[in-house]
Amino acid sequence: MQDGSEIIRTLREAGYSAWLVGGCVRDLLLGVSPQDYDVATSARPDEIAALFPAAHAVGAHFGVMLVGEVEVATYRSDGAYSDGRRPETVNYETNPLADASRRDFTINGMFLDPFSGEVLDFVGGREDLANRTVRAIGDPAVRFAEDHLRMLRAVRFAARLGFEIDPATLAAIDPAAIRKISVERVFAELNRMMCEGGAARALELLDRCGLLAELLPEVKAMQGVEQPPEWHPEGDVWVHTLAMLRHMGPAKPAVAWGTLLHDVGKPVTQTIEDRIRFNGHDRVGAEMARGILSRLRASAELIDEVQYLVSCHMRFPDLPKMKPSTLKRFLRHDHFPDLLELHRLDCLGSSGRLGTYDFARQQWTSLTPDELRPAPLATGRDVMALGLAPGPRIGELIRALEEEQLEGNLTTREEALAWLSRQVSAPAST
Ligand code: ATP
Ligand code: MG
Repeated sequence: MQDGSEIIRTLREAGYSAWLVGGCVRDLLLGVSPQDYDVATSARPDEIAALFPAAHAVGAHFGVMLVGEVEVATYRSDGAYSDGRRPETVNYETNPLADASRRDFTINGMFLDPFSGEVLDFVGGREDLANRTVRAIGDPAVRFAEDHLRMLRAVRFAARLGFEIDPATLAAIDPAAIRKISVERVFAELNRMMCEGGAARALELLDRCGLLAELLPEVKAMQGVEQPPEWHPEGDVWVHTLAMLRHMGPAKPAVAWGTLLHDVGKPVTQTIEDRIRFNGHDRVGAEMARGILSRLRASAELIDEVQYLVSCHMRFPDLPKMKPSTLKRFLRHDHFPDLLELHRLDCLGSSGRLGTYDFARQQWTSLTPDELRPAPLATGRDVMALGLAPGPRIGELIRALEEEQLEGNLTTREEALAWLSRQVSAPAST
């Protein structure tokens, strides 16, 4: 990956000031590899374009140029903010000092010379990195009012880095203000929090500052929902969900959201009979998960998979009793590997016993692709050749035929055709 140093060399040779800036400086000082590199410079956008013929403007941010994978931006200060999202104007500046103060957090506000290692730190970023603190640059209430999304960014950085949020910065979070931010941007931040590692911590911080109740009230409702201690010695539904997330680490969105929402149906289905029960919480929860993720405008693909994960997460104890055909159909689902991972987390976040997980995993690894998805022994055309008119009965027969095949009752085309002709001549009730 381009690390920005060649770009900085070229800018400096042309007489401009240029530094690495922002998240990449934070990550390099922490000794972790940056996800992307940003360069700040005194060169104006047209001057950047003249030096780098392949440069083109980044759509969303006025005057920011993309050179290869590196964002190169002119030093700037922001004009007034009036909509809680973005400044009305930006002013180009000739030095990095003004550029530092428009950035969000001190740990994101430093400049680094990639050749000498010199750091320009006008905002106390190095000290906050050492203290592991996320602190707004300037007055936190003002900075959050300028751009409400920064409230979620504070949580995301604290969660991912394992930092604390400075008390004054935390206290300035106004949960209701997040409603002014487009749901797409909110979801993008939440999704990164869930997937970048530190999801359990992100949820605790969201809860502490009131954003959880605002954005995910159905998750907030898990708190205090007692469970039978023989299954859940760890505690209530919220404690269990956080325990799973602590075992998760960086994850795919479907696994992360599936884990967060797998028991979201429990608060509304809890009954106290012979013991505490949550009848149908998988089915109810799957519908709720669809509703929550639709509200957040997640992709249809993510919503479908999370609904599947939530609706199937209770099936593992039944595995040893399943007919071979049912078991194979369960194991061959495209998203089964994610369901298996969710189940592993479910075990680790409760009793810690992995028996049902190990059994499922062993079944899944021991069956070959051909056993799980054998080539069909016959087709709808074969059924019609036996004299059956087109209609739903053909699909039913093909599915029933596959069932016999998965059970191991039919293994050759001849056996399949003989079986089909018996079905076709039998009454339709079979
Ligand atoms: P990541 O590692 O997640 O990419 P990052 O710190 O690089 O984190 P980016 O969103 O890539 O975050 O932004 C790069 C830099 O731009 C930040 O470090 C920060 O200095 C500045 N920045 C980004 N978003 C904002 C914002 N909403 N308000 C103020 N400054 C911001
Ligand atoms: Mg970045």
